[in-house]
Amino acid sequence: MGKVTGFLEYERLEEGYEPVEKRLKTWKEFVIGLKEDEAKIQGARCMDCGTPFCNNGCPIHNIIPDFNDLVYRGQWRQALDVLHSTNNFPEFTGRVCPAPCEAACTLNVNDDPVGIKSIEHAIIDRAWAEGWVVPQPPQRRTGKKVAIVGSGPAGLAAAQQLARAGHDVTVFEKNDRIGGLLRYGIPDFKMEKSHIDRRIEQMKAEGVTFRTGVLVGKLPEGSKVTNWAKETLSAEQLCKDFDAVLLAGGAEQSRDLPVPGRELDGIHFAMEFLPQQNKVVAGDKLKSQIRADGKHVIVIGGGDTGSDCVGTSNRHGAKSVTQFELLPMPPEQENKPLTWPYWPYKLRTSSSHEEGCVREFAIATKEFVGEKGRVTGVKTVRVDWKDGKMSEVPGTEQVFKADLVLLAMGFLGPVGSVLEAFGVDKDARGNAKASTEFIGGYRTNVDKVFAAGDMRRGQSLVVWAIREGRQAARAVDEYLMGTSDLPR
Ligand SMILES: Cc1cc2nc3c(=O)[nH]c(=O)nc-3n(C[C@H](O)[C@H](O)[C@H](O)COP(=O)(O)OP(=O)(O)OC[C@H]3O[C@@H](n4cnc5c(N)ncnc54)[C@H](O)[C@@H]3O)c2cc1C
Ligand code: SF4
Repeated sequence: MGKVTGFLEYERLEEGYEPVEKRLKTWKEFVIGLKEDEAKIQGARCMDCGTPFCNNGCPIHNIIPDFNDLVYRGQWRQALDVLHSTNNFPEFTGRVCPAPCEAACTLNVNDDPVGIKSIEHAIIDRAWAEGWVVPQPPQRRTGKKVAIVGSGPAGLAAAQQLARAGHDVTVFEKNDRIGGLLRYGIPDFKMEKSHIDRRIEQMKAEGVTFRTGVLVGKLPEGSKVTNWAKETLSAEQLCKDFDAVLLAGGAEQSRDLPVPGRELDGIHFAMEFLPQQNKVVAGDKLKSQIRADGKHVIVIGGGDTGSDCVGTSNRHGAKSVTQFELLPMPPEQENKPLTWPYWPYKLRTSSSHEEGCVREFAIATKEFVGEKGRVTGVKTVRVDWKDGKMSEVPGTEQVFKADLVLLAMGFLGPVGSVLEAFGVDKDARGNAKASTEFIGGYRTNVDKVFAAGDMRRGQSLVVWAIREGRQAARAVDEYLMGTSDLPR
């Protein structure tokens, strides 16, 4: 364990942020990671409590007490090996994971949890800087061919695991760059894209082939999901050419808000707005871009995607940014005895909110109002919640000024036509139907076709996508070889 009395001696130390004025002028990451000695002290706070709830709280079951201890002892190289044994991409989770492990930390029962995510971040950033992260090509090749549809964290984790098991892996991506929502959802200020690029180089050296601009199956007419495909490949062809296919196409269908005035100009899905900015940061020249400069921006939806719209709008130079949430404001502090070790219900204020945003809770949108075909305002009403039921509060109608409205109310699920092209059954929520049970896990009803990540579980988190990609890789390996040495 770290230092026996460490948790009594040292406080939790948060990673720092660049000042707001400075970070609003750039698209660069602004989190200041822990220095080596700071990370050691944070590692020393780990109590080695015996039943590591953190390890269970982490969806990929990172072996947290072990790497905390190794960092405390200055054995960074070994800490990296422990981290990589459960997580293909700690530089992604070390930046964007909401850290359910910390909610589950035993110290969190009556103190501040160990800064697990900041330690993970420190280990992997040091590892890249030291040149410790190198390709691990397989010792032997199986001659089996695996196709992966979608290059988000689920597809990438599966591809790396399967290539290391010796299979011939090809990743198909309809967009022009690899990375899924890591590339075209999460803004650069939360995660710079060079982190994806160097992993792609590593994976190419391990034998993975990447094919961008290839749509597998088809999208419905008028679909608004990101699609920069230059060619299409049929599901039948893919199943014919490969020994196994893993569907990891995400849950891309945005939830709409069909109220009067929805057709007005200036109302967009978050996933029309955010990918464009990531493209511009990547150096692409766009014919036109949805911009927030000088505008009153209303973001509808109080979650992470909405928060990314807030941060992006403020970097554009919006005149005002207001975010609506249908649910009431959660308590600022969780009820720890009630919620620990689970993810607590509490108010979450992101770094984007701190950069400037008015947050309105318990508010519903009734109508978009406009002039000459363009949105000028949002008509709202306050709502009351009782026993899970919502009712409008009479006399609370109000019109908020709006030049740009961004819809960030979550995602309905995967694009149905892609699953239909393969003949894959859907569950009640429209996701690819496949259980995660050990035998037959991740297998759909169609022979040799598997599904993982948001496409199987619905809209979720990067860490869950990595978990599903890893577990699906083992399932595919077992299907192809009869047995598998890949970890689950
Ligand atoms: C704006 C935004 C911010 C987020 N922020 C966070 C965060 O901070 N932390 C966090 O943990 N999670 C965050 N998430 C959620 C997280 O990004 C997703 O849960 C995760 O990326 C899902 O991974 P995936 O691999 O299953 O799918 P995705 O990342 O969605 O990747 C799927 C890929 O498949 C491709 N594809 C789909 N269909 C086809 C086809 N037919 N042919 C070829 N290619 C296809 C898509 O183009 C896409 O690139 C965020 C999501 C959004 C939208
Ligand atoms: S991946 Fe997320 S939950 Fe797991 S240890 Fe890292 S920050 Fe915690």
